[in-house]
Amino acid sequence: MAENNTENKEGKKSLNFIESFIEQDIKEGKNGGKVHTRFPPEPNGYLHIGHAKSICLNFGIAENYHGLCNLRFDDTNPVKEDTEYVDSIKEDVKWLGFNWAGEPHFASDYFDQLYEFAVKLIKKGKAYVCEQSPEQMREYKGSPTEPGKESPWRNRLVEENLDLFLRMKNGEFEDGKYLLRAKIDMASPNMHMRDPILYRIKHAEHHRTGNKWCIYPMYDFAHGQSDFFEGITHSLCTLEFEVHRPLYNWFLDQLTEDDYRPRQIEFARLNLTYTIMSKRKLLQLVQEKRVSGWDDPRMPTISGLRRRGYTPESIRNFSEKIGVAKRDGFINVALLEHSIREDLNKRANRVMGVLDPLKLVITNYDAIADEYVNAVNNPEDESKGTRKVPFSNELYIEREDFMENPPKKFFRLSPGIEVRLRYAYFVKCNSVVKDAEGNITEIHCTYDPESKGGKSPDGRKVKATLHWVSAKHAINTEVRLYERLFNIEDPSGDKSGKDFLEFLNEDSLEVISNAKLEPVILEAKAGEQFQFERKGYYCVDKDSTSNNPVFNRTVTLKDSWEKVKGQ
Ligand code: ATP
Ligand code: MG
Repeated sequence: MAENNTENKEGKKSLNFIESFIEQDIKEGKNGGKVHTRFPPEPNGYLHIGHAKSICLNFGIAENYHGLCNLRFDDTNPVKEDTEYVDSIKEDVKWLGFNWAGEPHFASDYFDQLYEFAVKLIKKGKAYVCEQSPEQMREYKGSPTEPGKESPWRNRLVEENLDLFLRMKNGEFEDGKYLLRAKIDMASPNMHMRDPILYRIKHAEHHRTGNKWCIYPMYDFAHGQSDFFEGITHSLCTLEFEVHRPLYNWFLDQLTEDDYRPRQIEFARLNLTYTIMSKRKLLQLVQEKRVSGWDDPRMPTISGLRRRGYTPESIRNFSEKIGVAKRDGFINVALLEHSIREDLNKRANRVMGVLDPLKLVITNYDAIADEYVNAVNNPEDESKGTRKVPFSNELYIEREDFMENPPKKFFRLSPGIEVRLRYAYFVKCNSVVKDAEGNITEIHCTYDPESKGGKSPDGRKVKATLHWVSAKHAINTEVRLYERLFNIEDPSGDKSGKDFLEFLNEDSLEVISNAKLEPVILEAKAGEQFQFERKGYYCVDKDSTSNNPVFNRTVTLKDSWEKVKGQ
């Protein structure tokens, strides 16, 4: 489905369809061979992984072709937009590792130009002030199989249109009383050409223009022109805009004699399994407090992924891997998880952390003679060196690593069985201690002093190596384990007509308050990532304080992607 950038025989990357169009334009000398793209978010929410795809594409293409990429806020709807969103969007784009050309642009920078252009359309007899209600408009619009009917206001005189439009601008009318519409073709097979709305009255304060305007241009009227004003050469957008393209061209045909046109190229929007990608629905999750905020680590937002422990590189690699597609489809979220595992495997230092602690007492180890064992920080990267891990006669191991009455295939610790404690010694379990209810509270072992470093002294083998933390040195830690936020592959409800909240996974967050970690993690900074050996990748949450560290689980170690891919 996706048109991946695969290497061809000469070891050169083959081009995806967008790059092919661009190279063709460069070859033909269009726009003087220049490439200038843009990323045009509406500041009405936080960016998500779908936007990240668009960012990587737009900025990536500009980089590859030595061009520029603008950041432009399509801020035409003051009611839903806010500077909080503007700021978060800038932060997210920068964090992903991209630089926009010059200062950020805003569609609101062009409100004067757009207004002048609307006046020009009226003067040319190509726009009119309409008084239809939304219901009437709907009724007159027709359907894709039936032509629409013309509005009774369509043939107002130019002078009257100019007068009314000016008075709309001057604030003489309440919201909804009048609209400015383009006069195109109510019978067009393309519904977007049936006299679309250009301006509506909204007595609302805009986050940038304040109260200067009480009429605001529609997105469709602002978007194509903004591309034009900025000299965008390639306007990459998602498939639903394909049918808007004739309208954007129509506007420019009225506006300019110039031959230059931004070339719009559509690609499929990214959908991920088990993930909601609609900003409206994400906002609802935040407002109804179903998550802790836009940056809740379960959210598919860039800020959520960042807090979860994703790196910019992993997101860029993911974006590269999925390529661009011409038809809508779903990408398996396991591929995103695979990307972060791959990246953190190279990057993250290993530490030992016990999430569900069970006390292990070494009865033949001197209770006051602590020692430090040497541990490798990252087997994938020698330059990360080693660290000293404190060892003593009382340790914690993972409760699931012990069974009193193990089934045949259980190779970890059980009575009479010997295992290796990573980097330390061989230990053998001799007995267990239980509380009044019969729960195991301690396991008692003896160690072999000859097995220092976890090396077999005489060639005898053990079947398991366990991670552990010295009890008296352990740092008590809160660890937050996340599962997918939704239970089914396509939770949008778009196909089933069901409410997406029905598919919310009620068990998507589990908080462990008494995990035990090696003392080295006290030196970690917010956002720093680790591999807890045998358990997964974790990062320091911003809620951490110097004495009370909090960790987020980014992903478990188990990678289901190779399996999915093999199917
Ligand atoms: P809205 O419904 O509010 O328009 P949107 O997700 O399209 O939501 P925009 O702020 O308009 O939000 O998106 C900015 C840019 O990101 C657009 O160019 C859009 O095409 C692109 N984009 C949005 N969602 C995705 C997605 N899932 N995959 C790829 N690109 C996306
Ligand atoms: Mg949009």
